Amino acid sequence: MKEKINKVPIYAYLIKNSIYINTTTCCSNVCDFCIKFYATGVAGYDLTLDAEAGVEETCAQIDALISPQIESIVFCGLGESTYRLDFMEEIASKYKGRGLKFRLNTNGHGNLINKFDIVPRLSGFIDSVSISLNAHDKITYDKLCNPAFDGAYEAMLEFCKNCAGRISEVYLSVIDMPMVDIKKCRAIADNLKVKFRVRPYIAPEIKPDKCGACDKS
Ligand code: SF4
Repeated sequence: MKEKINKVPIYAYLIKNSIYINTTTCCSNVCDFCIKFYATGVAGYDLTLDAEAGVEETCAQIDALISPQIESIVFCGLGESTYRLDFMEEIASKYKGRGLKFRLNTNGHGNLINKFDIVPRLSGFIDSVSISLNAHDKITYDKLCNPAFDGAYEAMLEFCKNCAGRISEVYLSVIDMPMVDIKKCRAIADNLKVKFRVRPYIAPEIKPDKCGACDKS
């Protein structure tokens, strides 16, 4: 990790017309391509955290950024937001009724992490979910993402299936990498009747053996 340049931890940050919430750095995957293993954040923001944000500190930063131009609040960051379901729900409840869209970027392990089906709760406050498919099959997924859970690939697909029809907008996303068969990935999304998104690959400088960002993975 590069040296921290911001003195105040960033819990909410602005990209275009969205406010992103830096929910956690914990994750149940250790993806070879994850930005957190070779950079401190995105779009010039240092998103490393010594401790997870509380609702109050996060709302204070959201309030400082919010304006009539803001269209959505996105739960994202350098980790897996579904580790903090209550936190997300509370943040959403504070800003609902303002015409904002609530989005979640997730690795799709939320049900394994929380040990129950979180989709009914998510569908109460999330309008759009983007799930990282990452690979066309389990073998490739395990190689690329090093999941903490057995059966993570299947659980991610099951999570996607549960979201479809319950959450207004559902995406499966992949990174355009040589070992990923984009055609097969697109077919998986089509089969699940969800939208499909391909993201460009940015080669990391270092590849991790393990995450080490928290004790949850
Ligand atoms: S799912 Fe992979 S890319 Fe996303 S935060 Fe976790 S390790 Fe990083």
